[in-house]
This record gives sequence, structure tokens and C-alpha cells, in this order.
Amino acid sequence: SSDDEGGEEYLFKIVIIGDSAVGKSNLLSRYARNEFNLHSKATIGVEFQTQSMEIDGKEVKAQIWDTAGQERFRAVTSAYYRGAVGALIVYDISRRTTFNSVDRWLEELKTHSDTTVARMLVGNKCDLENIRDVSVEEGKSLAEAEGLFFMETSALDSTNVKKAFEIVIREIYNNVS
Ligand code: GDP
Ligand code: MG
Repeated sequence: SSDDEGGEEYLFKIVIIGDSAVGKSNLLSRYARNEFNLHSKATIGVEFQTQSMEIDGKEVKAQIWDTAGQERFRAVTSAYYRGAVGALIVYDISRRTTFNSVDRWLEELKTHSDTTVARMLVGNKCDLENIRDVSVEEGKSLAEAEGLFFMETSALDSTNVKKAFEIVIREIYNNVS
């Protein structure tokens, strides 16, 4: 934070990680622009988007980073993680393999972090209840075991998307203020 005419300002870097096609890019576009894309391609160009919220009468900006599809090659770079104080670790509730990968993503995050990171486990695509492959309980218990926040979301119908990001942003704010 830095002093300004209006008081303090906050800028937090948050990263979104998880296997390919779990809905990372759509979670970000839903949160930052209220947009969803049924046929989204691996992100090209956009590194991050900034979204503001107010906490205790202060403007808090989240700079939220999206991978450019590098996760397909298991080669998300350390630059991606550098300076991150928050993370959303995303899996797809309709694909168990993406849930099984969460441990690996947590390891990678830990390897690249040198500070406290507010972490949220996100089970995305909860609109796909009819083809659910991971139960809510499994998500919850993994989150509890690892000390993570947990939420199921749908970038498609907007369920809990804003909530998931805002819980992380509030936690970061609490950590630093
Ligand atoms: P990323 O590779 O993790 O960034 O995943 P994308 O955001 O590109 O999404 C991959 C595919 O899943 C796209 O076809 C999206 O339309 C779809 N998708 C993303 N989020 C949801 C969701 O919440 N529900 C459903 N049904 N599909 C989703
Ligand atoms: Mg993407």
C-alpha cells in the first residue's frame, strides 16, 4: 500500500492455476468483464486483468493473471507466480483427472512462493451436475486437509464466481492490513 490523497491504495497479484480446459480463462472473464465464451481458445495476448473492489472504504485492486495455455505443457514459468499473494487452484467437477492434479499445482505454487498466499480451491462447472465426477464432499475435505478456502463455481451461469474472487481478495487484505 502507498499513501495517496484518498488514503491508502492496494494492488494484489492473484494467479489462476489448474489443468487445461477447467475454465480458468472463463472464470476471469466472468469476474472481470461478465463475459463467458463457449468456445474459448487458449488465451492469447492478455496476461492479466484488473478488477477493483472496496474494503473498509478503501479501493482494493486485484491484478488477476491467467495462463496463456502453458499449463498444457506443464511449464508455467516462475515469472507467472512472482509476487503473487493470492491463488485460485481450479479443477473441473466433471473430470476427476483435473481434481487429481490439484496436489501437483499446490506443490508448484509452494515452490514458487516466498510469502503467504491466500488460496482458494475452486471446483468449476458446477452447472454440469448431471455428469459430476467429483463430489462436493471430496472438494471440501481436500481443501480442509490443505488449509484452503473452497467453493464450487460456474463461469457459465455465474454461480459463486464473484464470491470466490472476493473471498481471496479479502483474505489478502486481512493478511497485509
Ligand atoms: P482454461 O483452459 O482452464 O482457461 O479453460 P477455458 O476457460 O478456456 O474453458 C474451457 C472450456 O470449458 C470452454 O469450452 C468453456 O466454454 C468451458 N467452460 C468454462 N467454464 C465453464 C463452466 O462453468 N461450465 C461449463 N459447462 N463449461 C465451462
Ligand atoms: Mg485459458
